[in-house]
Amino acid sequence: MSKLGCVAIVGSPNVGKSSIFNRIIGERTSIIDNYPGVTRDRLYGQAEWLGKHFSLIDTGGIEIKERPFQEQIRAQAQIAIDEADVIVFVVDGQSGMTGDDKYVAKLLYRTKKPVILAVNKIDSIDQIANIYEFHALGLGDPIAVSGIHGIGMGDLLDQIIKSLPEDAPIEEDESLRFCVIGRPNVGKSSLVNAVLGKNRAIVSDIEGTTRDSTDTSFTRNGKNYTIVDTAGIKKRGQIYENIDKYALLRALQSIEKADLVCLVIDGSEGIRELDKNVVSYAVDEKKGIIIVVNKWDLVEKNEKTMDQFTKKIREEFKFLDYAPIVYLSALKNQRIDSLFVAIEKAFDAYNRRISTSILNEIIEDAQRMNEAPNFQGGRCKIYYAQQVGIKPPSIVLFANNPKWMHFSYLRYIENRLRDSFDFDGTPINFVLRKKV
Ligand code: GDP
Ligand code: GDP
Repeated sequence: MSKLGCVAIVGSPNVGKSSIFNRIIGERTSIIDNYPGVTRDRLYGQAEWLGKHFSLIDTGGIEIKERPFQEQIRAQAQIAIDEADVIVFVVDGQSGMTGDDKYVAKLLYRTKKPVILAVNKIDSIDQIANIYEFHALGLGDPIAVSGIHGIGMGDLLDQIIKSLPEDAPIEEDESLRFCVIGRPNVGKSSLVNAVLGKNRAIVSDIEGTTRDSTDTSFTRNGKNYTIVDTAGIKKRGQIYENIDKYALLRALQSIEKADLVCLVIDGSEGIRELDKNVVSYAVDEKKGIIIVVNKWDLVEKNEKTMDQFTKKIREEFKFLDYAPIVYLSALKNQRIDSLFVAIEKAFDAYNRRISTSILNEIIEDAQRMNEAPNFQGGRCKIYYAQQVGIKPPSIVLFANNPKWMHFSYLRYIENRLRDSFDFDGTPINFVLRKKV
């Protein structure tokens, strides 16, 4: 496991940043796509070129509402400088060099990180001469690209991976790695403090193992834990105040490095759209997930309150029905133990292995009780199943024709497995194969 190198795209509005971002990230099917009502920001993703993996940020997606343009662009450039290893500066080759380009260039002079200048909208060879004036920006030789037509992307990607630093391995320890995510002010830092509180004496910041050493390790009841990206939870100075998307970006980066994700919700405020947005990435990354309802001390309660809140969460987070819910108060240090119980259980589930014979028995029984529906011209029949991995449990289903599998039937199979084994807190990854 290693921390991925990070590339950020910057530039004025409308130069084509998101077109280039989409082109590099490519089409990805998302688990979340099956759940209407979850909107997603396409501002962060993972990409691969010639076997090298990296993460990609579209800083254009990090808008600050109702602020002057210059402030917006300054914040975006600053985030790129702080977060990325390589910066791709996009300009518009059809409109020619603008004052805004010069302004962005000036901001980028301050970083020692590699900056790649991409002149976009060079849709055909006869526009190639348009790139030369951009030498004047003083950022080296420009690369001609067309995000829309996919021209020059190979050259751009070659340059990107050449500029990325060597992968920094994360020290392989046996500790359970989790992160704490959520909207600003739900109580993430308070929770981290409460968790570390008693363990403070044995806390160590791991130095040098990751590029920015923000992971915190501790031991509790003889077990080793690492909280990923504890520093990222604290806001980094004033310029990021009120930028929700910055918090989102930090969350996405931490999810990548963790086994388990604790989604913190403010129990006194209820569920917001952004809560779903943040956690949907953890679902697609197939991480173990625990829902933490914090500030429970502020909620006026009777014996029904917790059940009602749980019901509401289950309705709002249909795609997270496997995540256990923990109610606590970080500030009052109440029920922190119950979080650890949930974390331990989820981690066991995340690592669970099921024997092939039992797995096949369950799936056979499930099919006998309830046949797959006719779908896209046939009825899916699973002949054989085998677990091929953990973290999360990954199961290959060999079937007559994978195309005939309706996702609701797969959910049914999944639920039968969940009835038989404790998979609380972990997704199960199914891979469908045609039996040959
Ligand atoms: P962003 O604001 O920098 O993210 O820019 P977008 O990616 O949203 O693109 C802004 C506009 O430029 C859209 O109308 C795109 O269709 C157009 N555009 C983006 N890339 C290209 C390109 O390579 N060639 C041309 N002709 N238009 C492009
Ligand atoms: P973050 O932005 O998610 O890291 O949130 P903070 O940890 O900074 O907390 C935001 C505010 O909520 C602070 O004023 C905390 O004191 C308060 N807070 C955090 N947890 C609790 C809690 O369990 N109960 C109450 N009443 N307040 C809390």
